[in-house]
Amino acid sequence: MANRAYNFNAGPAALPLEVLQKAQEQFVEFENSGMSLMEMSHRGAIYEKVHFEAVNLLKELLAIPEGYKVLFVQGGASTQFAMIPMNLLRPGTTASYVATGSWATKAIQEAKLFGDTSIAASSEADSYKRIPAISELNYSSDVAYLHLTSNETIEGTQWSEFPDTGDVTLIGDMSSDILCRPIDVSKFGVIYAGAQKNLGPSGVTIVIIREDLIVKPSTPVPTMLRYDTHAKADSLYNTPPTFAIYMMNEVLKWVKANGGAAGMEARNREKANLIYDIIDSSNGFYRGFAEKGSRSLMNVTFTLASEELEKQFIKESEAKGFVGLKGHRSVGGLRASIYNAVPPESVRALAEFMRDFQSRNA
Ligand SMILES: *Cc1c(COP(=O)(O)O)cnc(C)c1O
Repeated sequence: MANRAYNFNAGPAALPLEVLQKAQEQFVEFENSGMSLMEMSHRGAIYEKVHFEAVNLLKELLAIPEGYKVLFVQGGASTQFAMIPMNLLRPGTTASYVATGSWATKAIQEAKLFGDTSIAASSEADSYKRIPAISELNYSSDVAYLHLTSNETIEGTQWSEFPDTGDVTLIGDMSSDILCRPIDVSKFGVIYAGAQKNLGPSGVTIVIIREDLIVKPSTPVPTMLRYDTHAKADSLYNTPPTFAIYMMNEVLKWVKANGGAAGMEARNREKANLIYDIIDSSNGFYRGFAEKGSRSLMNVTFTLASEELEKQFIKESEAKGFVGLKGHRSVGGLRASIYNAVPPESVRALAEFMRDFQSRNA
């Protein structure tokens, strides 16, 4: 495809071209069934095969140990901000959060609707340019859980390692970096992620939850917002977003064919280094937003000397086929989201453009 954009959108974001093409082939008729997958019952054998293939691929690719359930739910990661405390924050207990940026803040605000919260560490005083060190975390051993945001999509920061929290349940919002690298799932009680950044299109949210946390909530919680509802029914309690799950399954197959989580990490590091190297060798023309030790492999954030120059950068990049480089409206600047599916060629083209733009404007 000659005129595919260099897509750096933050989410929904680039999908592998091979996956889009395969979906196109299978769109009207799925596997000689006489109909599209979207026209089929979610209770039928054909859909169920896709559904459980996706569950099993996630288990395989993330090396999810025994004793965890993989759930597919709706409402985006934003609904998880509420479901987590609704299900796991019991009256009289406190939930602790690491305040790393925009998404962590939203998670905290939502938890406050349901119970007491505390802040284990915060980088607000540093404009969220960094992820707090593990040694900075300060929470009581009797908190209901400790919540972190593995990658702050808007600020462009990412945890490079996760704390060992012992008996305290660790919860991770991995919406913007799930499967970008291998992780130790056993450190977490719950991991959740909206699919539309690194796993597929929007419409499905995955929840990986340790089985002992799947309990009847101690306060009334709507049926659809209870983890035990979805766990008991293998995420088929009500109609799941069948097309989103089908697409995610195809993306997972693509990840597997490209080296799995370790293959993704190697590819992502190479891509991210291309852009960070340009920033670091630009003599201050490009200014990285995140502190070096907290830089994200997924969202590279940077600014230029003036807003005017940034506007010019966006305008010229758009004319050359680059999409999505404007920073989030809340922090400004520029952002290149380089999720798993963003091809290295797109990143090389961006690096080239950045070099050229600097040479003309420095
Ligand atoms: C995008 C994002 C969310 C919100 O996801 P929705 O699916 O739109 O609700 C939450 N957390 C992080 C880290 C994100 O990047």
